[in-house]
Amino acid sequence: MQQVEEILSKVADDISKASMETSSNAESEWRSAVHAEGEGKPPCELCGGLGFVTLEVPVGHPQFGRAVPCECKQEELEARRIASLRSVGQLEALKGQTFESFIPDGIGLTGQERLSLRRRTSAAWSFLKSPRGGA
Ligand SMILES: [Zn+2]
Repeated sequence: MQQVEEILSKVADDISKASMETSSNAESEWRSAVHAEGEGKPPCELCGGLGFVTLEVPVGHPQFGRAVPCECKQEELEARRIASLRSVGQLEALKGQTFESFIPDGIGLTGQERLSLRRRTSAAWSFLKSPRGGA
């Protein structure tokens, strides 16, 4: 006859194995869901999925016919950049920073960067005011 302790430890072992399986299943399900979402995504309205757009400027304008990365691409690039920055070291640098102390114009940014930062800041603010999933 087995000792109670022995049985309990076996049960505990089984439970931890089972919960590990569950979490890894959930993770792979999540991954495939994300993957499927990426594949089934309709092409961008602005660029039709090309990833770049031409500027609407009159003929003869220096920027005429010039292709610039589409907004959808910029978001993607930004998302990748953020993902690559997401390390403990980088987050450590933001410790103690709050929205109250945040300068929406940034410091030493170009016009484009400042605009982008402002847009993101106001998006973050509106999310804080009314958090919602997806968008
Ligand atoms: Zn686009």
